[in-house]
Amino acid sequence: MDMRVLISGASIAGPTLAYWLTQRGAQVTVVERAPALRGGGHGVDFRGAQMELLRRMDLLDAVRARETGMGEQRVVDAGGRVRVRMPSAFFSGEVEIGRGDLAQLLYDRTSDDVEYVFGDHVAAIDQDTNGVDVTFARGGARRFDLVVGADGLHSGVRAAAFGPEERFRTFLGYYQAGFTMPNELGLDHVGLMYNEPGRGVMVSSGRDPAVAGAGFVFSSEELSYDRHDRAALVEIVRRRYAGAGWEVPRLLRALDQAPDLYFDALAQIHLDRWSQGRVALLGDAAWAAGPGGSGTGLAMMGAYVLAAELDAAGDRGHAAAFARYEAAVRKAAAVGHRQAKGAGGFLAPPTEKAIRRRDRGYRLLSNRILLPLFNRITAGAANSLTLDAYPHESAAARTNA
Ligand SMILES: Cc1cc2nc3c(=O)[nH]c(=O)nc-3n(C[C@H](O)[C@H](O)[C@H](O)COP(=O)(O)OP(=O)(O)OC[C@H]3O[C@@H](n4cnc5c(N)ncnc54)[C@H](O)[C@@H]3O)c2cc1C
Repeated sequence: MDMRVLISGASIAGPTLAYWLTQRGAQVTVVERAPALRGGGHGVDFRGAQMELLRRMDLLDAVRARETGMGEQRVVDAGGRVRVRMPSAFFSGEVEIGRGDLAQLLYDRTSDDVEYVFGDHVAAIDQDTNGVDVTFARGGARRFDLVVGADGLHSGVRAAAFGPEERFRTFLGYYQAGFTMPNELGLDHVGLMYNEPGRGVMVSSGRDPAVAGAGFVFSSEELSYDRHDRAALVEIVRRRYAGAGWEVPRLLRALDQAPDLYFDALAQIHLDRWSQGRVALLGDAAWAAGPGGSGTGLAMMGAYVLAAELDAAGDRGHAAAFARYEAAVRKAAAVGHRQAKGAGGFLAPPTEKAIRRRDRGYRLLSNRILLPLFNRITAGAANSLTLDAYPHESAAARTNA
């Protein structure tokens, strides 16, 4: 593949695509808006066919070396008494790693072969039949053969090439905040969840006993705020959790100090097409589903398929490759959308009655007889996109063989 490709976004989808494109001969630049690689985030799990992707990237051992090793998840009441215990497979799949650790692994795997530009972003895109002229916010302009937006829910490439975010975003009625904090609760490979109507709190500690990951999910009307104003985000969470019981006051104090706060709406992105000419979208930028929608695994699988299709189509075949990539990944994205729709109500049920109903469901599912069925359903979702149709080697390697 003799192509110059610009990828916007250096989290999960972007570096995975960069890896597979450089493996297949392309020259890749990744531009990331943040000044450095962003750490933090929830644990992300892999199941079923997604495990094969980690093997093909020769990443499985490295992921296992950093896996969270999370054990059971417990629902607790205001006094800390355990109401329900759920086995780790519920949330942690076959292997689970922190999102930030995964991003770091992907960056380390690609940084020798890929040009990374931090602290900049695409300001304008102007394409013709032979290439794409990109103007960067810091002032430079460069020409590429293709541009891929892997820049998440609030994608700048999508805004530049497809239109404003509001046109494609569906708000699901909830917000989430996540951050790391000292493991003050002394958790040992265990996660705790506490609920009051419309608000949920999760805290867990896995691989690093000194550190815990905290998460808040709460129902809300759509709020207007500046995404980049940390103090405003903290204030939103503080207000929403005022007066909450259990260990919530302690978690709110930790929130003030958190080095890596992530705050966003639970929202989905729906687009009629994932490409416009020489510009394509990948991962959350194209099909964000929200928590529970297999977003990380599918972003990586989609990156693999996109690189394989571009490689198979040859240097002038990007339009066909984009169409085939979209046809291959759409069904799995739709499964993710369906799965994630209920996540807010599940993590933060609206009433006491709904909390109790959710807990009864948990108890049933963790029953030994039903657990295999639950595992089959989650693996089925992860298997809605497989790599069977995609050979491991590049088109060039197959021609030379
Ligand atoms: C720091 C962080 C923490 C997260 N924590 C959670 C969590 O707790 N719960 C959850 O459900 N999901 C979380 N996510 C989202 C989750 O990573 C994705 O849903 C999933 O992994 C798919 O990844 P993606 O690469 O498509 O998008 P993302 O992981 O969202 O990555 C997008 C990347 O693009 C960058 N970016 C954004 N705009 C621009 C721009 N205009 N130009 C260049 N770069 C840009 C972002 O800084 C980010 O690095 C988090 C994402 C990040 C970046």
